[in-house]
Amino acid sequence: MVPRGITIQELAPKFNRNSADLVRLLFDAGEMVTGTQSLADEMIELIAETLGGEVLLVEPGQEQELELQTLLGDEEEDEDEGLLVSRAPVVTVMGHVDHGKTTLLDRIREANVVAGEAGGITQHIGAYQAERNGKPITFIDTPGHEAFTAMRARGAQATDIAILVVAADDGMMPQTVEALNHARAADVPIIVAITKVDREDANTDRVRQQLVERELVPEAWGGDTMVLEVSAPEGRGIDELLEAILLVAEVEELATNPDAPARAFVLESKLDAGRGPVVTALVERGTLRVGESVVAGGGWGRVRALFNDRGESVKEAGPSTPVEVLGLDDVPLAGDELRVAPDDKVARTVAEARARRRRAANLSHPMSLAGGTRLEDIFAMVQRGEVATLNLVLKADVQGSLEAVTDALRKLDQEHEEVRLSFVHRAVGGITESDADLAAVANATIVGFNVRPDRKARERAHAEKVELRLYEVIYKVLEDVNSALLGMLQPEFEEVVTGDAEVREVFGVPRIGKVAGCLVLNGVITRGSKVRFLREGVVIWNGAITSLRRFKDDAREVQAGFECGIGLSDFQDLKPGDIIETYDLKEIPRT
Ligand code: GDP
Repeated sequence: MVPRGITIQELAPKFNRNSADLVRLLFDAGEMVTGTQSLADEMIELIAETLGGEVLLVEPGQEQELELQTLLGDEEEDEDEGLLVSRAPVVTVMGHVDHGKTTLLDRIREANVVAGEAGGITQHIGAYQAERNGKPITFIDTPGHEAFTAMRARGAQATDIAILVVAADDGMMPQTVEALNHARAADVPIIVAITKVDREDANTDRVRQQLVERELVPEAWGGDTMVLEVSAPEGRGIDELLEAILLVAEVEELATNPDAPARAFVLESKLDAGRGPVVTALVERGTLRVGESVVAGGGWGRVRALFNDRGESVKEAGPSTPVEVLGLDDVPLAGDELRVAPDDKVARTVAEARARRRRAANLSHPMSLAGGTRLEDIFAMVQRGEVATLNLVLKADVQGSLEAVTDALRKLDQEHEEVRLSFVHRAVGGITESDADLAAVANATIVGFNVRPDRKARERAHAEKVELRLYEVIYKVLEDVNSALLGMLQPEFEEVVTGDAEVREVFGVPRIGKVAGCLVLNGVITRGSKVRFLREGVVIWNGAITSLRRFKDDAREVQAGFECGIGLSDFQDLKPGDIIETYDLKEIPRT
């Protein structure tokens, strides 16, 4: 096993030679190379051929990883066919923004999830299992191909079947094509769902025509692509879609050994204040059980508890089931593998070796602090023919979105020669004062995805003139960077925070639902104002204040230092310690 980019000095001992021998050998073949220079793949192969050895080229770092994997037990030995049992297909829904992915996923979930005992309350854990004719289907419920790509980038083949959503009124759009390309690159069977067929301007034949242009010929037209028409409001076509999925799954003969030591991959992970690292994983093979020693990325631990997609505590999770796993000591990355280890010691050794390597890898890419440019200033620099470097501090709500935003930005970076994106820092969590400090020294722009700065971070960013941009959809992040390149950045609306209140107690009020008993910490809270609901600096809900009370009376506004009751219409997930932040929008004039 030889890592790519090895030097002659490092390679020579592997062949029991000294460096000079290899330098001479390459010289004879017409290559002038010094002992400390990295070798191209062909040169390594040439050396191996000449000296009569075989080399397996691996990515740097992968060598150690493969060694670690053998510690966990070699699992890729061919499985005895007799042990295999069929498993549920894992499905990802992809397509253009606003074409109805979320609606479709919600519809399937409402109508087909096995009713939970606790009143069927469904949890968002990144995936859920639905059922049709008694057969389970697992849906990855973070729609969009960004998440899909992030998984694949980490080597996880997370999906068995891709549903390509195309809205009947809009047809194929750029992101539809992109999603299609991703599914094709992953060699995943594709089923097309034409959505919004109930709309007056629906034109399904035009969509079929566009599909044909992309070599997806519908079965009805003599091809082999399943194309289904669905309407979310009418509930039409959903059963047929589920049946189509089961049909494809049957052809694929998906099977695995449920009795093997479990292997799962991480869909999402977050640090929960009360519960520690919480990992949503999808079991690929085997059965994961409470009490087992596991490792995932640089984290390890004993499985303390497992929760299914209905939030119920379970003792074990079999193939193709999504579960929340508690008990790890660190937050792994989306797409990381979660594996059962023979014992705690092995789990710990593997996790620590990985954590060390990940730290080393981060340190070996020294961040370039010079020449950072504000998003707003990029256009001017590009006009002058300079290469603009955009330094970014990126914060996101969960690991999955952090990876997805990073990947999307990296792609943009590759598409535009005139800008260089450089990530100074990427992490999960709210934007803090230290992020603002870092951005100030690194001349970086802070990009927040579904997270908010706390008051101190906001003040520091303002004082240091750090550009702070907050987003809730990936599409918008990309749009802004793109617009900046064209010098067409839209006026920014600054959100002027008008007040914040801390939840102290939660009451249930008949007919109204939950009401938060709060203390107003800053500013003034006004009925009807826009709010963000924050937990640990992460936005978990957006909306408006629907009811505001002082003691028993309705109030129009409540000042800092006073207590009040706040109701947030349909949002019920209130907990003491959460922060309710109210804000106004104010346009910032461009200079
Ligand atoms: P996503 O961005 O692809 O997840 O799209 P959404 O699921 O958020 O849907 C975008 C909009 O289209 C929403 O306003 C939905 O209510 C609407 N929509 C989704 N599916 C249908 C459908 O089958 N028929 C109609 N008429 N509207 C739909």
